[in-house]
Amino acid sequence: MSIVRRSQYGGYMSLAESPAPGNRTTENRAFQHGTTEHGTAAAAGVVADSSQRHSLPANHLIDTVLPVRPALVDRGSAARMEPGMVEELLRSGAARAVVLSGRQALVSGNSLVLLDAAELAEHLQGTPYAPEHLIYLGSALAGSDLAAGTELILFVLPEQFEVHAEEFEAHVAGIPASAQWAGFRDVAARLNSTDTALFIEASAIANWHATHTHCPRCGAATQAEAGGWVRRCPADGSEHFPRTDPAIIVTVVGPDDRLLLGGGGPLDAKNYSTLAGFVEPGESLEQAVIREIGEEVGIRVTASQYLGSQSWPFPASLMLGFTATTSDTEARPDGVEVTRARWFSRSELHEAVLSGEIVISSRLSIARSLIEHWYGGVIQDRPEETE
Ligand SMILES: [Zn+2]
Repeated sequence: MSIVRRSQYGGYMSLAESPAPGNRTTENRAFQHGTTEHGTAAAAGVVADSSQRHSLPANHLIDTVLPVRPALVDRGSAARMEPGMVEELLRSGAARAVVLSGRQALVSGNSLVLLDAAELAEHLQGTPYAPEHLIYLGSALAGSDLAAGTELILFVLPEQFEVHAEEFEAHVAGIPASAQWAGFRDVAARLNSTDTALFIEASAIANWHATHTHCPRCGAATQAEAGGWVRRCPADGSEHFPRTDPAIIVTVVGPDDRLLLGGGGPLDAKNYSTLAGFVEPGESLEQAVIREIGEEVGIRVTASQYLGSQSWPFPASLMLGFTATTSDTEARPDGVEVTRARWFSRSELHEAVLSGEIVISSRLSIARSLIEHWYGGVIQDRPEETE
């Protein structure tokens, strides 16, 4: 299983910050003793007194976890159970539409295009472009980039829109001339956090509908209900809920505090990332970490710590970020999923990235956050390759 989908993290993002090699934080008591004493300052990414950085013994991990990002949308899990709630929202005239077709969303400049949902529904009714699904995404929370309470409905349009965007635009007033279809990775670096969250939620639920059209028990076509968050089989009444596939993604740290990164594909390729793999049925996350790292690079993990997660619904993953330690020093790539593996000290990684010798995961991915968690600060990308 596994890091096959890791290539989705490819790409190269620009970065304005300067590097902070060796910018370590306090020693990791929580990890060492199995407690969870992460303070709020640490959770918020506050770097502790850097005077300690040089006094740390080898193999110390950093006493912070990845920052927790609060939800920006109230998904209204109770409200959406009300039959006909989406239609009711459309009638209210107050809802905004997020528009998706295939894996692309309608964007303009640095933002998702949010259309008047009632108007859009009316314009598309009876046309070949009528939405395949109308799904309740929720209402914007205070702290989001939208007015609090803004109701949001996802319009999933037929996939042919990917190639006929102009036709669609001709049907709907109010679409900015600059609007275009864009995939998540094409625009994610430019979107604000609310648009990013909406794009991810919309992609996740739309992907599920696209791939779960029939009842797994009897094969009958299922019907969406609960605002698009349940599909029910009309033949046997069974309910089916959106699913997410858990995958672990791991920084492996050796006895000399070096980081192990790996890559798939051609041996001479430049891309290096964290190792990753899907959790199997009946397996704990920690067991998956040990198994995957063992399978992919022949490294025996001695301890692991959960650091944070990222939804990656392309098509349906939830990435669970870990850091793991090992006393092994020799990595043996399996030659299938991982064809090259290499240990890096902080300065080696910094130099290799800056010189263009290697390319590490983009800032879109939790892989980069995990790597920088080990590094103890921001890793500067090679300036010439910021696109
Ligand atoms: Zn059925």
